[in-house]
Amino acid sequence: MRTDHEVFAAHMCGWDHATLASDAPTEPDTATARALSRRQVLHGIGALSAVALLSACTQQSNPPPGQAPGASATGGAPAANPTLTPAQLGNVMNGIDQIQPWQEEFYKDLHRHPDVWGEEARTAEKVTKKLQEVGVDEILQIGGGVVGIVRNGDGRSVLFRADMDALPVTEATGLEYSSTEPGKSHVCGHDAHVASGLGAAALLAKNKSEWSGTYLALFQPGEETGKGAQAMVDDGLVAKLAAVKPDVCLAQHVLTVPESGHVATRSGAILSAGDSIKVTVFGKGSHGSMPQLGVDPAVLASSIVLRLQSIVSRELAPGQFGVVTVGAINVGTAPNVISDRAELLLNVRAYDPAVRDKILASIDRIVRGECQAAGSPQEPTFETLATFPLTVNDPTVTDAVTQAFTQAFGADRVHELAPVPASEDFSLIPAALGVPFTYWGNGGFLPGMPVVGNHNPAFAPAIQPTVRTGTEAAIAAALAYLGRS
Ligand code: ZN
Ligand code: ZN
Repeated sequence: MRTDHEVFAAHMCGWDHATLASDAPTEPDTATARALSRRQVLHGIGALSAVALLSACTQQSNPPPGQAPGASATGGAPAANPTLTPAQLGNVMNGIDQIQPWQEEFYKDLHRHPDVWGEEARTAEKVTKKLQEVGVDEILQIGGGVVGIVRNGDGRSVLFRADMDALPVTEATGLEYSSTEPGKSHVCGHDAHVASGLGAAALLAKNKSEWSGTYLALFQPGEETGKGAQAMVDDGLVAKLAAVKPDVCLAQHVLTVPESGHVATRSGAILSAGDSIKVTVFGKGSHGSMPQLGVDPAVLASSIVLRLQSIVSRELAPGQFGVVTVGAINVGTAPNVISDRAELLLNVRAYDPAVRDKILASIDRIVRGECQAAGSPQEPTFETLATFPLTVNDPTVTDAVTQAFTQAFGADRVHELAPVPASEDFSLIPAALGVPFTYWGNGGFLPGMPVVGNHNPAFAPAIQPTVRTGTEAAIAAALAYLGRS
């Protein structure tokens, strides 16, 4: 059960879908792509009504202005620091060359020794030790995750999340620092997230003269299963952070686009809602030579798989985003035996809650209808294995962070990210805290490198400048709110 779930969950986070987007001729000419304006879409995947999505998925707002420091009059997001200067950014990033060796060492160690959901204690211990070494002021252990707190006087509080779990996938990169553990690997880039998150905490702890407030470096377990953020919330995250409650939450992910050294932001819906469902349909067992005595669940399951394809193609309007994937079919054990049941593992993605509901209802209808048509002796069963929320970036926070990135990297290294059909549980953290957030992409591949998508066993992003850029991005985004004016 656990193994099935984990194997299935490996396909849930779905950054492999980001690969599909990058496989499109999105950057046929790097020089041309660089010349694109920052707000120009790198690659398109269809029309998306951001306004409708935002109205359907409004984030919880901060307390009214006056109760929360810096809360803006509109949207509930705190106002960014308007005086953030390149000099300030440079001063806080002072020492990044010196931390790079241990960041790379840490990255390679995590890569060699990946921990999957439920087994992240070893990684959490390493993270805790490093946070102690770099001099954060306090470390909390919450729900299998770790929060390092850097205190620096009055001001706002910013939370930056790095997920630290690996996937139940056997690595096939051929890297000299490949996973030493068959069936487990960091092929979604979370090792880079952790290395960058630690580096940002280290530099913010070291260089306190140019900023003020509180920085929370949060390391989350179990992103791939969609259970880690909730585990931290369930273990009292909100109460435990009450004294340092963040005004804004931030997160990033290593992606196949843009190129390494570049970042990409997006206002509004950035990641889809995702559901993983196990459907069990029932037949009637028989000898393989006597189908007339049974009801064949293999034929029934096959009909369901084909019919499910009509949901997106025939039931959704052209341009409406939805995905229905049958990731696995399990039926039978021998060539001469007709089984008595079949299991189908389904994956659903949508950017609009109404579309998600429609897809789920259609799946229910089609499965039941096909069972009836087949003469199935028993009602099918449906089990939800995982549910990921829609991830909708706050426009005000996204604008502030994008501006900070432009200052830090220059406009030619900051792009607009197209919506990604993958899913995340990060937003459960800001939702529990009642604060806005933004989540951006950090490019993982250099020009000329073979681009292999997240979750592929051969996923092998360039360590640098990916980790360095992730570190700088975390700092720049935090300073949009913590810069000393
Ligand atoms: Zn993933
Ligand atoms: Zn991931």
